[in-house]
Amino acid sequence: MNQSSTGRILLVEDEASIADVVTTALRYNGHNVCHVSGGLQGLEQGTNEDYDLIILDVMLPGIDGFEVCQRLRDADRFVPVLFLTARSEPDDRIKGFLAGGDDYLPKPFSIDELVLRVAAILRRTGRGAASELLRVADLTIDSAGHDVRRAGASIELSPTEFRLLHYMMANAGIVLSKTQILANVWDYDYEGSENVVELYIGYLRRKIDDGQPALIHTKRGAGYVLRDAQA
Ligand code: CA
Repeated sequence: MNQSSTGRILLVEDEASIADVVTTALRYNGHNVCHVSGGLQGLEQGTNEDYDLIILDVMLPGIDGFEVCQRLRDADRFVPVLFLTARSEPDDRIKGFLAGGDDYLPKPFSIDELVLRVAAILRRTGRGAASELLRVADLTIDSAGHDVRRAGASIELSPTEFRLLHYMMANAGIVLSKTQILANVWDYDYEGSENVVELYIGYLRRKIDDGQPALIHTKRGAGYVLRDAQA
């Protein structure tokens, strides 16, 4: 039985010393690591190969990490992305999430923290996790298979959308505040960024409730709740 999940990881980092330390530590922890140093190489590698996670430096030669992530998402590559950056301004964090990133680690970081973050992302994106099927009305989510269905039809979600839906389904019937959602889905307790929650609720609604009885409901001034209106 494999206790900590291991994965295929693409590291896009132009600083050789950081790349060496990260690669060594991840391999030591059982991960399979591929390293490239440029944005375009990262994009090409991430588009053509199947990874469980991409660790993406923001400041890169060629195109920057945000752009790499955005272009991967545009190409329907929904592999989880962990950004590394020397800049830690809140605006950059939000920009990272809006570009479709899943987590964000400001430099300098401790290698132990990086290894823990990687394990957490692999776990919560269902890579290597035990199967768990949640159901609300005709909506089902299978965390291990990263599979979401409404009335039997498969729905494609980004990793952040998937995590948000999983959190709401695990708490079905409970009104969740934006602060709660931010803390549980994004791991960050940052201020002034509740618009990110609104944005992602909007994405989810378009994918989950499109042309069907709504399962995601807004409780004005309180937050959001996922429940079967018929029940
Ligand atoms: Ca860099």
